[in-house]
Amino acid sequence: MIDFNPMAKIEPSAQMGFSGNRLIRDAEHRDETQLEDALTNKHARYLVFGGNKVILRHSDNGSGSCLRFNRDEMEALDGDVQTAILLGTDESAPVLAVTSPLDLESLKEPLAAYDLRSLLYSGHITDADAGAVAQAGSMLHWHATNQYCGRCGTASMARIGGFRRDCPECGLRIFPRTDPVVIMLPVSGERCVMGRSPHFPAGWYSTLAGFVEPGETMEAAVRREVQEESGIHVGRVRYHASQPWPFPHTLMIGFHCEAVSEKITLDDNELEDCRWFDRDEVSRMLAGDHPDGLACPPLKAISSALIKAWIESG
Ligand SMILES: [Zn+2]
Repeated sequence: MIDFNPMAKIEPSAQMGFSGNRLIRDAEHRDETQLEDALTNKHARYLVFGGNKVILRHSDNGSGSCLRFNRDEMEALDGDVQTAILLGTDESAPVLAVTSPLDLESLKEPLAAYDLRSLLYSGHITDADAGAVAQAGSMLHWHATNQYCGRCGTASMARIGGFRRDCPECGLRIFPRTDPVVIMLPVSGERCVMGRSPHFPAGWYSTLAGFVEPGETMEAAVRREVQEESGIHVGRVRYHASQPWPFPHTLMIGFHCEAVSEKITLDDNELEDCRWFDRDEVSRMLAGDHPDGLACPPLKAISSALIKAWIESG
């Protein structure tokens, strides 16, 4: 019998940035009518994207900033309904995403454009809207990069509100993709291994990560990636949480794993440093009072959640 009692009442995944999407998608039961109905529904709301940024309307008092525009507001932002995808419905109305060719630099307060990472950390939007934005960003990117059939080269067409593309020539159906990435903290007793990507801000160290490859389990991907990036051999692997990561359409799948060797051999194509840290040092990094200014990524990122969960387990 599976004993669910030892599990946390609040799922760790629910505490990650971009994880709060509450829209009901119901893609399984859609036909071609739902998008048409949504586009004529006066209560419908639209997320408006330009490239990899989304438009936000700041509120006067700093709270209640808004990503959801009504039809007139969306059209005033040059939203193109030909690109509309039906993300789903909330309690009251459909929520759609569209792209706009507008020059985002020309936006004037209270309007502003945010890339999704900055928006997540801005504190301007609810967890539910952050989740909807992640879904929209990933799906719009997928449509933009799958305009033609991969089998015969004919222009493909969005179907069922954007949850599928069909080839009118050969009948190929393709579905929005999600790329699985394993992200993991190798630990051994009171120590863990963290690395530094050359793209990180100064002083940051974080978990290791990499794409799952074809024909591979997640656990095998954890062992392979840790070995490739750090030279550390991994024994047992335990799942912790996942996080939608819309850059462009990734699912981060987070693990703690058991380091069973000690010597670090750095893969300098991926990392500029990788080393062991003891628990006290990592606690200070999370608390922001490390004497050398070392730090971990912000909370809401699964990397920091994995690190924090290890500290709290001690
Ligand atoms: Zn085709």
